[in-house]
Amino acid sequence: MISCFSLSQKNKLYMHKIFFFGSLMLATAASAQQKIDFESYNPPSTLQVAKHPLTRAKFPFIDVHNHQNRMAAMDLNILTTEMDKLNMRIMVNLSGGSGNQLKDAINNGKQNKPGRFIVFANVDFKNVGEPGWGEKAATQLETDVKNGANGLKIFKSLGFSVKDISGNRVPVDDARLDAVWKKAGELKIPVLIHTADPKSFWDPLDSSNERWLELIINPNRKRDANNPVPFETLIAEQHNLFKKHRNTTFIAAHFGWYPNDLNKLSSILDALPNVVVEFGAVIAELGRQPKMAKAFFTKYQDRILFGKDSWVPAEYPTYFRVLETADEYFPYHKKYHAYWAMYGMELPDNILKKIYYKNALRIIPNLDKSGWPE
Ligand SMILES: [Zn+2]
Repeated sequence: MISCFSLSQKNKLYMHKIFFFGSLMLATAASAQQKIDFESYNPPSTLQVAKHPLTRAKFPFIDVHNHQNRMAAMDLNILTTEMDKLNMRIMVNLSGGSGNQLKDAINNGKQNKPGRFIVFANVDFKNVGEPGWGEKAATQLETDVKNGANGLKIFKSLGFSVKDISGNRVPVDDARLDAVWKKAGELKIPVLIHTADPKSFWDPLDSSNERWLELIINPNRKRDANNPVPFETLIAEQHNLFKKHRNTTFIAAHFGWYPNDLNKLSSILDALPNVVVEFGAVIAELGRQPKMAKAFFTKYQDRILFGKDSWVPAEYPTYFRVLETADEYFPYHKKYHAYWAMYGMELPDNILKKIYYKNALRIIPNLDKSGWPE
């Protein structure tokens, strides 16, 4: 009897094992069939919390980081209709160019939509190294400002691809450009400068890279220590430029590429009082650290400007929601920037007003200061 009993126990155990391995095989087969790639795995959240989606900003605002390449020939009615929906009172077009192109863009704005557009000039970096290049560029900037430019925008090509007449890379802090920064200081116009790119673009392209998807979609964005130089080199050049020209106001684009390290950005701002920042294309970094970001916005409330960069009206509401609401875990609009969800900072009105327009009114010259909320 005893042996019979133990036999049946053994049988039961055996049957269990077969069942267990059978289910495991089925599960493996199912997961193989349903393997979902990272790009398409995007489940809508099941979380039930209060939602306050926004379509327009609480206060009229100035977007200091926008690009309209063909502004001279544009029908600005279409643009201002879109701006009005967002409550954007002034758009700063950083792609003004120089000379006649710039003049035509400014005149189109002045004639057809006065007070709605600000245009920044750009420097033509061709022939750096020719004698007197810096003085010539500074004179051109002076002319462009006389023609109505309210600032200077420097693209990331400086540091990345701009070469001198000998074919060497021109560093961001190259002394041959000093006359330009000095002139901007004398003219009291800000220099909005984009240097480098997110640090992840220099990191190995593998499963530990937060910008893996962006680099897969845009392989030309991948960098390394020799393409053209390390991230840290470019950033050090930019900071050295800021240090050398204390009488010039610089707007470091994209939070100086430290939106994911606000302690580091704090130390930069503390050391360089002539520098302010804007958050174009990096709101996803702020929206994943609402407490830290709110403390940062509180401490540096006079040194942060509203910037967005690419002109996609449908993406602005994410910015408003991160800045204004206390919402939790809401989606961001571009997975290759962020596969994580957003949280709102719930900034108080007095700080919102500074970010949305007061700081820009102070830093960018010749703006009409009337008609804004107190
Ligand atoms: Zn830009």
